[in-house]
Amino acid sequence: MSQGLVSMSYIVASILFILSLGGLSKQETARRGNYYGMIGMAIAIIATIMSDAVSSYTILIIALLLGGALGAKAALKVEMTQMPELVALMHSLVGMAAILVGYANFMDSSSSLAGAEKTIHHVEIYIGILIGSVTFSGSVIAFGKLCGRVTGKPVLLAVRHWLNLAMLLSVICLAALFIIGADTENAILPLVLMTIIALIFGVHMVMAIGGADMPIVVSMLNSYSGWAAAATGFMLSNDLLIITGALVGSSGAILSHIMCRAMNRSFISVIAGGFGNTAGGITEEVEGDIQPIDVTGVVQILRDANSIMIIPGYGMAVAQAQHTVNEITKLLLNCNKKVRFGIHPVAGRMPGHMNVLLAEAKVPYDIVYEMDEINDDFPNIDVTIVIGANDIVNPSALDDPNSPIAGMPVLECWKGHATIVLKRSMASGYAGIGNPLFVHENTQMLFGDANESLQSVLISLQS
Ligand code: NDP
Repeated sequence: MSQGLVSMSYIVASILFILSLGGLSKQETARRGNYYGMIGMAIAIIATIMSDAVSSYTILIIALLLGGALGAKAALKVEMTQMPELVALMHSLVGMAAILVGYANFMDSSSSLAGAEKTIHHVEIYIGILIGSVTFSGSVIAFGKLCGRVTGKPVLLAVRHWLNLAMLLSVICLAALFIIGADTENAILPLVLMTIIALIFGVHMVMAIGGADMPIVVSMLNSYSGWAAAATGFMLSNDLLIITGALVGSSGAILSHIMCRAMNRSFISVIAGGFGNTAGGITEEVEGDIQPIDVTGVVQILRDANSIMIIPGYGMAVAQAQHTVNEITKLLLNCNKKVRFGIHPVAGRMPGHMNVLLAEAKVPYDIVYEMDEINDDFPNIDVTIVIGANDIVNPSALDDPNSPIAGMPVLECWKGHATIVLKRSMASGYAGIGNPLFVHENTQMLFGDANESLQSVLISLQS
């Protein structure tokens, strides 16, 4: 394929990627956005395969078949609840690719670059490997934290800020050594040392994040993976990779900003590591009596209520209760009740997790509200049904300055007339802390798997 045709295909793919991101920003157009993305990626892959730059089809076909088969297997096997881990693992692969491409470029003796161009190329290699290494090790730790193999508690070294500063200064000094000695055999040493430091920084940064603050780190690593891809694009002189990487990098950065705002955290402290810890006091113990309720009681409250709020959380994803929730919603709407959904920005285990599940179950978009849109409305709500949510409805975020989630805005359902919480036990949520909502005077607990409980509610409501 001629270079002109390849460039043309890359432009079309880039436009499709931009349309894809635009589509994904709204639930109504998200499906279309996905199709744009898929078509764009297919065009990008085909154009790259057909380009004159490819010299060995054997290696390419083996790599495509192997990567495609592994990707398809992972996508088919993964449970919806494991999606965040898979995404973190994918981010680590982008980081790994940037490292490998960087070293391959550095060792490539066939390059004809000279003078300033060569120096710029070495800077690209250095930055590419740096971002790739932080992305790789940070994403591996994020994967471990999300699937529970690495502790969710923040691991805070006493000298962490000094350590970060020392690593930053070392990386700058090593950059100078690498660029100055780039043409000599000595250049490999600063490059390897920088890679090790960047890998340690990635581990240190994510280990220092407390459980409930993980959403910010997930979106931040998403952004890093984009910049790692863009850096790879510079090293390979591939315009499409630069554009795609920049799109992912900047949209991930915007998402990180949104997440920071949602959790009332500062972006700088995320990057510096070690946030998510509190003033260091003792978290208040939860004391009080639990008021259990049975299915008949829940059905009676729903029949009496006019205004109903549903707050889904991670437990709805675990129970796969979204379809039953939709059936109950349809029934209640048919009885002329005002039913709305309140979505916390960090509900579940990945950005937009609840919206995806509700869209899958075909819950109408116009009754699904963001936290900011409905949080002031709780005093007018007759009953709130909390489905497998915990941290996102924890009043201690507002009342207890020593809580690990202190300062995080939460859905203030306790301000409503009644709250019913569906969960299996009194176990804590992702942040690992007690929840005073469960012993609040207006709260009743319906214990059991959320889907099984809701199935029983549905049957009773239908009869
Ligand atoms: P939580 O993890 O706080 O709570 C989920 C609750 O669901 C648990 O307390 C659990 O209690 C209950 N549950 C689990 N399975 C079932 C089931 N089958 N039926 C009924 N209940 C069930 O979830 P939230 O959505 O409230 O909050 C999200 C948390 O995850 C926040 O701390 C957030 O920071 C963090 N996080 C979010 C990410 C994101 O991008 N959205 C990424 C990483 C972390 P029990 O075991 O008693 O049933």
